[in-house]
Amino acid sequence: MGICQSTPTTDQTPNAPVQGHSQDLANPPLVGTSDRNEFCFSCHRPQNSRPIEVEYTNLGDGRYLCPECIPLSLTDSKQVKPVMRRVQHFFEEHLKVPVKKDIPIFFLDANEMNKNAGRGTIDTNTVLFYGRILYSGGDITLKIVKRWVRRGAAIEAVTKFKDVKVDDVATILLSFGLPKQVIGETLAHEMVHALIKLQGWNLTLETSVEEGLCNAVACMWIDYTADDYDDGSFAKKLNKFRKYMIEEHHKDDAEFAKARQAIEKYGLEHTLNCVARTRGIPE
Ligand SMILES: [Zn+2]
Ligand SMILES: [Zn+2]
Repeated sequence: MGICQSTPTTDQTPNAPVQGHSQDLANPPLVGTSDRNEFCFSCHRPQNSRPIEVEYTNLGDGRYLCPECIPLSLTDSKQVKPVMRRVQHFFEEHLKVPVKKDIPIFFLDANEMNKNAGRGTIDTNTVLFYGRILYSGGDITLKIVKRWVRRGAAIEAVTKFKDVKVDDVATILLSFGLPKQVIGETLAHEMVHALIKLQGWNLTLETSVEEGLCNAVACMWIDYTADDYDDGSFAKKLNKFRKYMIEEHHKDDAEFAKARQAIEKYGLEHTLNCVARTRGIPE
C-alpha cells in the first residue's frame, strides 16, 4: 500500500491570511498535544481563543470543525465529484497533463485513515491526515463515510464497508467533513502522487522530491481557484490561509522551492519527465 503525507500542517504560526482572526492563529496546536481537539481541523483556529464563545462541531473521531468551516463542508461523498472534475480540468487545461479519468475517491474518518496508515510507514505521531493515496497492495475493505448530518454540536455519519481493489488504479482517501476548499487542495496534492504512480516508473522517488511536487501543485491549485470566492468571504480567507500554511510549513524545504520554480519554468509534464530521468527536480 502506498502512502502520502498530506498532513495538517499544525506546527506553524499563521497570522494575517485569515484576517480578523489573527489572534486566534497566534498559538497554533502541535500535533500530539492534548489541546489538539480544541482546534478546527480545517482552518486550525483554536476554540478557546475566539472573541466570543463558539461551539465547535465534534466529528466523532478526535477532530472538530469551527462554525465558519462547517457550512462549507461537503456532507455527502457525491459532492466530491464536481470538485474532482474541476481538479481534472486544472490538470488537463491549466497544467496540460492528462489525467486518468476514473480514480476512485472515498471519505474515511480519522480512525479508518490511521488504521490504514499502520500498513505503511507513516510516523505515528502525525496521526491526522487530510488525504492519502493507495496504489498497491491488492484488495482491501474500507469503512467509508457516505454522508453525515450535523446534530447540535456533534454529527451522525452513515458509513458502509466497501471492498476496494487496489491494483493498477490509484485510489484517493479523504478525511470526511472538510470544506470544498480543503478537499480541492488535497485532491490536487494527491493527484500528483497518482500521476507519479500511474507513470509506471521503475524507481522510487525520495519522499521530499515527491512531496515537493505535490505541495507545489496544491499551491497552484489554490491560486487557480482564488477567483471562485467573493472578496471578504470566509471561503476566500480559508483558501488564502491554506496556501499560507503550505508555504509556511515548507519554507525551509528546498525541494518544494525547486518544484515551484521548475513547474513554473518547464511545466508539470516536462518536470515529471526530468524527474523520471534524474530522480531529482530540474533546476
Ligand atoms: Zn503527499
Ligand atoms: Zn475552521
